[in-house]
Amino acid sequence: MAEGYRDWMLTTAEFTALLQELYHANYVLVRQRDCFKTHPDGSMSLAVPALPPGKKPLIMSFDDVNYYTYMQNSGFANKLVINQDQELAAEVFTPSGRPVITTAGDCLPILEQFIKKHPDFSYQNARGLIAVTGFEGILGYRIAPDNDRSNTLEAETAALTKVVDWLKQKGWEFACHSYTHNSSWFQTAEPPLERIIYDTDKWKRIIEPLIGKTDTYIAPFGSFFGPDNPCHRYIIEAGFKYYCIVDKSKKIIFYKNHLIISRFNIDGFNFRNNQYVFEANYGDLSKIIDNKRIPAYKPYARNRKNFLAHADFFLNAPTIYVWGGLGLELTTKCLLDLASEYPEYYTPEKQAAYAPYLDKNYLGCDCSGLIKNFLMGGVRHFVRDNTYDYNSRGLFDHAAVKGDISSLPELGGLCLYMQGHVGIYIGNGEVIESTNNPSFGNGVVKTRLSARPWEKWFQCPHVSYED
Ligand SMILES: [Zn+2]
Repeated sequence: MAEGYRDWMLTTAEFTALLQELYHANYVLVRQRDCFKTHPDGSMSLAVPALPPGKKPLIMSFDDVNYYTYMQNSGFANKLVINQDQELAAEVFTPSGRPVITTAGDCLPILEQFIKKHPDFSYQNARGLIAVTGFEGILGYRIAPDNDRSNTLEAETAALTKVVDWLKQKGWEFACHSYTHNSSWFQTAEPPLERIIYDTDKWKRIIEPLIGKTDTYIAPFGSFFGPDNPCHRYIIEAGFKYYCIVDKSKKIIFYKNHLIISRFNIDGFNFRNNQYVFEANYGDLSKIIDNKRIPAYKPYARNRKNFLAHADFFLNAPTIYVWGGLGLELTTKCLLDLASEYPEYYTPEKQAAYAPYLDKNYLGCDCSGLIKNFLMGGVRHFVRDNTYDYNSRGLFDHAAVKGDISSLPELGGLCLYMQGHVGIYIGNGEVIESTNNPSFGNGVVKTRLSARPWEKWFQCPHVSYED
């Protein structure tokens, strides 16, 4: 695979396997707009729909569903079509150059087929967001003013309209991905306002009439200029109140009349660089990665970067402090196991206190359990292994590199120790730790380094700090 394709694309086999993993992980597709409420004053707030028990909401978006000419003759689909059975399909060229219409030829038709088999993967017919630019037309139809086309504009537009209508009727939604996707305008700290105006207006003039009004802007390159930048303000005032960026955090920022939503890009780049984050959230990469991809799947390394990703995952997941817990889901069985392992600690009163949290997907750990979970394979590949079963003191004692807190290096991923307690330093004076403490909260929380009398720092045993 060529480098760009390897980083920014999935193979059809990978996308198919990805859907299976997401389904196994209890994700359900929801519409982005169904997760937010707009108030009379224009402000917005989170309002995620109530899903069946155990199910998790997932918003999927697809960028650049344009079938650019540069991708032709490289094994990509050529356009989206509706086949004889009135199903969504892709036109793909065989290596000998013969066009075939197939429902297995690209992500959107593959997702349609998956939902046909697993209707419960979609909440109230939600599909995904289709983000399109304009300069080469959309969905493989060359309807832009400057495009070379073999068909007439009327024929091309009619064929496109048929696909657009089909998609919208099924529950797909469209988003603006800029008209030009021009890197020198969008991938810069100082975007030229007149260019952004030209780009936004052109998309609204040429593309919007074909797909209908949309209030969702999926920024090219995930660019975000800042809320006060005139270019950003122009885009918002053009009618976009969902502004989507690319970021591996799950953050959503609410402004007066719009919001910024982070998206995690599922592609070869993140398979390689953010494997821990991917696996903790979405599924087992070893079941997804296509063996055409080089390098192929390797279990994640116990290194500083993944250790930080692990801490961050727990910080953002629903967690509760469980003494002796190893970061697994707090099920009724898990609590009974702990109670038989530690009968003196887990009195009937203590067990009863956990009742509201049982079987509700809470991850339970104590301070050292947060770290031991990582050493034993992390949330995705956890295997109980007593080699790594240290308490907080044991972690500190086994560390090869350590020092007094006064000499703490400014390096995220180091561990902190005080009598009976351990935490993970993440840099900038902040710590992620599991605790149950009236001033810090219950579960995995972020605290200030200065908030506790930490005594020592150390490199976590079995974790590599060479990067
Ligand atoms: Zn793009």
